[in-house]
Amino acid sequence: MTRNQYDIIILGTGLGGLVCGYILSKNGFKVLLVEKNKQLGGCLQTFKRFGVKFDTGMHYIGSMEEGQILHRLFRYLNLLNDVPLSRLDENGYDILSIAGEQYRYASGYEHFVEGLCEKFPYNRDDINEYVHQLQEIAQASPLYNLRKVEDHVFIEADYIKTSINDFIASVTHNYQLQNVLAGNLPLYAGVKDKTPTYIHALINNFYIQSAWRIIGGSDAIANSLAKSIRNFGGEILNDSEVTEIVCDDTKVTGIRLKNGNYIEANSFISNIHPQATLNLLNTNLIRKAYRTRINDLDNTIANFTLYIKFKEKATPYLNYNYFYYQQDDVWKANDRKAGAPLQSYLFMHQCAEPNQQWAQSAEMIGYMKFEEVQKWADTTVGHRGNDYLDFKQATAEHYIDVLEKSFPGIRSCIESYETSTPLTYRDYTATKDGSMYGIIRDKNFPTQTLVSQRTKIPNLFLTGQNINSHGILGVTIGAALTCAEFLGLNKIIDEIEGDVRGKM
Ligand SMILES: Cc1cc2nc3c(=O)[nH]c(=O)nc-3n(C[C@H](O)[C@H](O)[C@H](O)COP(=O)(O)OP(=O)(O)OC[C@H]3O[C@@H](n4cnc5c(N)ncnc54)[C@H](O)[C@@H]3O)c2cc1C
Repeated sequence: MTRNQYDIIILGTGLGGLVCGYILSKNGFKVLLVEKNKQLGGCLQTFKRFGVKFDTGMHYIGSMEEGQILHRLFRYLNLLNDVPLSRLDENGYDILSIAGEQYRYASGYEHFVEGLCEKFPYNRDDINEYVHQLQEIAQASPLYNLRKVEDHVFIEADYIKTSINDFIASVTHNYQLQNVLAGNLPLYAGVKDKTPTYIHALINNFYIQSAWRIIGGSDAIANSLAKSIRNFGGEILNDSEVTEIVCDDTKVTGIRLKNGNYIEANSFISNIHPQATLNLLNTNLIRKAYRTRINDLDNTIANFTLYIKFKEKATPYLNYNYFYYQQDDVWKANDRKAGAPLQSYLFMHQCAEPNQQWAQSAEMIGYMKFEEVQKWADTTVGHRGNDYLDFKQATAEHYIDVLEKSFPGIRSCIESYETSTPLTYRDYTATKDGSMYGIIRDKNFPTQTLVSQRTKIPNLFLTGQNINSHGILGVTIGAALTCAEFLGLNKIIDEIEGDVRGKM
């Protein structure tokens, strides 16, 4: 039995675990991060096929101009030099194709308004009001502006208790415009009458300010954070699945690994999905009511992704993201029945080098409910059988047929492809049913669907996309909230802003 003493053990090295590891080791805590996969990063992982690197869960990021929120956080996290970026088209970083009509989201608030006014000249006031409200909502959160926290850390209750569709309907009566404003909902797997306004507002405000691809893959973020953690004296164990969180009568004492090793620490942070974390805890310290509440929470939908390698110089690089909806009602994307034709998708070229001219690779992501792969639920990666491979191939061929409608001739540009299903995500990140963004926030049950970083065990905390919000910004801010349990939130904000002030 290996015995070891750490201040804090962090379970999982997704973005949340790595950012916690960075903040805490920078502040002198002796941390150990434990990851089940060989590769660190969770959704920041990449994989290589046919000589090309593919992202799995971080395709584009926002607010990376000097002074903007993610740039300030990246500076603090020492990521600026290690994560090369390429700016998406400022005249249209997101192109939406809805019922055969195309619309563009342009960078910068004024530019954004002008871009949409081309299609909606009589709704200028509505679009202005929409943009104004986005900024107001984003400004209202001290945390998302790195302001010192006094009475509240999060967001005004009104924005938690109204749905995105009600919010959008309150700024415009134009049905077509309502759908265009909701048109990037796959970025948060929005659900009509459920997803709270603040999720939409924070994400759109984030991307409208500036939108970027990571050159060469999102694993650069994970690798850089891991390097910094080690430089601060932290340790990282990969290929080491946690199989049990061991407790005594009052607290967690240690973790058990798949290889049988037992490691102790004073405190523990789980970056593993809360429902999976509970499965690792066999203790009466977690009351049945808490277990039931967490386990009953629904998760966002999962996805099927087609990873494409293009023939050399076959198709020009598209410097924008393409959201496709066959119908005018974008919310119907959620209603697709198992096996029914694909009605909506997100298509993105990957950026391998600065000023890219030709596309090397692309990803096409469509929603897929877990029930579509349910019959292979008991299988593991690489051992799911030929009928699963046939299912993947048939789905991929259908995807390419649908893609052809928007990009005629694209099939002939494809050299090879790979695919992933909800099972792939479930098995690589231990997210329930391969859910894209974890637990669904519901404006009808705002407090019940908000998971705290604190658990019922005093020295066990949570981090990651389920405790604040998902995505690069939501998870990074959430990690700061978790670390605040050890350092105080204002100290962390001071440190981040101090770093910005110090280096400007
Ligand atoms: C298809 C897709 C596209 C996305 N695109 C974007 C995007 O373009 N921009 C953006 O900002 N966000 C995007 N996101 C969201 C973003 O990737 C996630 O919100 C974020 O990376 C989640 O980080 P996390 O720390 O919560 O958890 P995860 O990344 O899920 O990490 C959890 C970690 O815990 C490990 N783990 C699990 N169980 C165990 C165990 N028992 N023992 C040890 N380790 C364990 C896992 O292996 C994993 O490394 C996308 C997500 C998906 C799925």
